[in-house]
Amino acid sequence: MRKGFQFASISLALLFMLSCTRNTDTIGYPTFEQRQQVNALLISGTTNPGQTALEHAREAIAETFGDSKTILLINFASLPEKRDAYLTRMQGLFAEIGPGYEMHSLHDIELDRCAEAVKSAEGFYVSGGNTFLLLRELYDRDVLDLIGERVLGGVPYIGSSAGSNIGGQVIGTTNDFPLVDVPTRLSLGFLPAVFNPHHPDPALDKIQFEARQWKIGEYTRYHENEAVIGVTNPGMLRIRGDEISLVGIGATAFVHSDGEKQVITSTEVGEVSMVLSRSVTR
Ligand code: ASP
Repeated sequence: MRKGFQFASISLALLFMLSCTRNTDTIGYPTFEQRQQVNALLISGTTNPGQTALEHAREAIAETFGDSKTILLINFASLPEKRDAYLTRMQGLFAEIGPGYEMHSLHDIELDRCAEAVKSAEGFYVSGGNTFLLLRELYDRDVLDLIGERVLGGVPYIGSSAGSNIGGQVIGTTNDFPLVDVPTRLSLGFLPAVFNPHHPDPALDKIQFEARQWKIGEYTRYHENEAVIGVTNPGMLRIRGDEISLVGIGATAFVHSDGEKQVITSTEVGEVSMVLSRSVTR
């Protein structure tokens, strides 16, 4: 297999076990017990080459939202002037995913009513763009903890790219520039790791792959207690309580944890499939 990696189609959970035992109590990451109701999908790439936006994720999105049809879009990762058009585009995409979705956007809601909107949402869709901007706007509106509480209570959460980054414990391995400062890099943490979207696939671009691995390696050198999961564009992490699966046709995840590097692949052809499944323990 690839140099420096052990190949394994085993549970991500196993790889997180030690890394998840450390800071949870001291800095308030959700505990194993608190994560039991989580129903989330963390998408890496919104658009897969050769497909329309979210085409590769439709089935997984519909499955994650289930009967939840009133979706709150959180599109603060986009520049403010682009948010109206983004909402319209997402409403169109959701009409293709299935009938009955009703999507509103938090950017349309007055500051003093944001908490109410978060409390009444049946599901969250947090779109991509700039991760710092997204996190900063959520802190500014004081709704990050509230979103986290609802997700821990079982309200479905789907993130794409920047929206997936904030599902992790910190936004430590975003590919984005800090357009704005954030009060802290701490994010939702229902994924007991740090997410890295758009991870290059070595079969497609070896140079970019090695560059990304180098950067993640430097990151873990300074944050050795954090597990990092890099997911290629077709991939998604499906989180159901303590079960974390890599789904997406042709997806690969590169996991760095406790000084170990492992590669996890989804099936080569066929339906979105679960290839990892094991309890995340703390
Ligand atoms: N800019 C990415 C996005 O599409 C996030 C990232 O690469 O970290 O949301």
